[in-house]
Amino acid sequence: MTIKKYFKTRKGTKKSVQERDYDSDYSNKGLHKESRIKNLLNDNKGNYSIVISAILLISFLILSIIVLNTVLEEREEHTDTIASNQYQYIIEDYKRNLPNIEREALEELSLYVIENKRPCFNSRDDLKEIIDEKLAQKNQEYYQNYNIEINSSIIGIENTSDPFSYKFKTYISSVKGDFSYEEIDESYVNCYNLKDPVPVLFCGDDSSFRIEDYSLLGDSDFGTHDSNFENDDSSSNQKVFYGHSLAKFLRRHHVENYSFYENASSPFIIKRCPYDPYKHHGDDNGRIMKNCRDNGYYHESADGACYLCRLEGKSGCDHYGFETFINPQKTNETGGVSACGSDHVIFSDDIYPGVEVIYNSENGLNEILYLDPHGHKVKYGMSEY
Ligand SMILES: [Zn+2]
Ligand SMILES: [Zn+2]
Repeated sequence: MTIKKYFKTRKGTKKSVQERDYDSDYSNKGLHKESRIKNLLNDNKGNYSIVISAILLISFLILSIIVLNTVLEEREEHTDTIASNQYQYIIEDYKRNLPNIEREALEELSLYVIENKRPCFNSRDDLKEIIDEKLAQKNQEYYQNYNIEINSSIIGIENTSDPFSYKFKTYISSVKGDFSYEEIDESYVNCYNLKDPVPVLFCGDDSSFRIEDYSLLGDSDFGTHDSNFENDDSSSNQKVFYGHSLAKFLRRHHVENYSFYENASSPFIIKRCPYDPYKHHGDDNGRIMKNCRDNGYYHESADGACYLCRLEGKSGCDHYGFETFINPQKTNETGGVSACGSDHVIFSDDIYPGVEVIYNSENGLNEILYLDPHGHKVKYGMSEY
């Protein structure tokens, strides 16, 4: 039994070997592959699952990290944009203060000069000092309110083609966290409605010299304030009344007929004349010139001083500046000659004469100016007067 059984088994084994050899003629390789997979499945079933799971898990993790990163980056970018916009807004807001600070400083300096009746040695340096102090205060304010560090300083004050306007250049730098800013800001500041220091600096020490609000004087000739221009300000109705001071000044400068400027008056508040071109001052039988003088306007002039040079006690300068006229008191005399009434001539070292120009006559009294025949008479269209 045992032998038989053995034989059978051997026979069976033999037979299967034979079959295998027979099959191998057709697909020996396929059989090998099948058994390899079988082996893998049977022998390494556990490892295979772990590998698949690990690959899936890693893929999932990588994907999650990518998605999370993108979301975080977007959120960060959004926060950055908000922070950057806020920073920009605060800087722009800061810059909007500059013209006001500069104008305020110019006004303070002019009041200081006029009250003390002493000219600046260098008005630009003085102005820079006042503005830089104000900027330091403003910078402190911004640091306290917004935690932004700003440094700023005036680096230039320039005349412009408009004699009533200056260009202020301010260096600004700022840092807040990752943000920083640096610029040279330019702003324009005019001198409209500021007080003219020239009359005070030349005649203000005389006891008869006065500055008065002419709307309070009850003189209707001074009351027609023309507010059709950019320089209207209801508080600007002040005029200079020289008393004896100007006549004395002209006598000291050996001017003939200095007494014609007894009780003269002139504008005190800087206002630009709207009657441009100026030759139209002679139109309408002198009524344009009368309106100009009643309102105390100033005119562009290459010979007249600009505002910053006026603060230094100059009536003329190298810059393109402006001029106004000194009005002698009304008179019933005619044909007189005295100093030409433009302020840059009267308050200069080279006073030249002007002839009488009557631009208005009422009740036997003439309103006059003394103008040089070939210069100011022509410029203002008064040749026929
Ligand atoms: Zn005018
Ligand atoms: Zn000047």
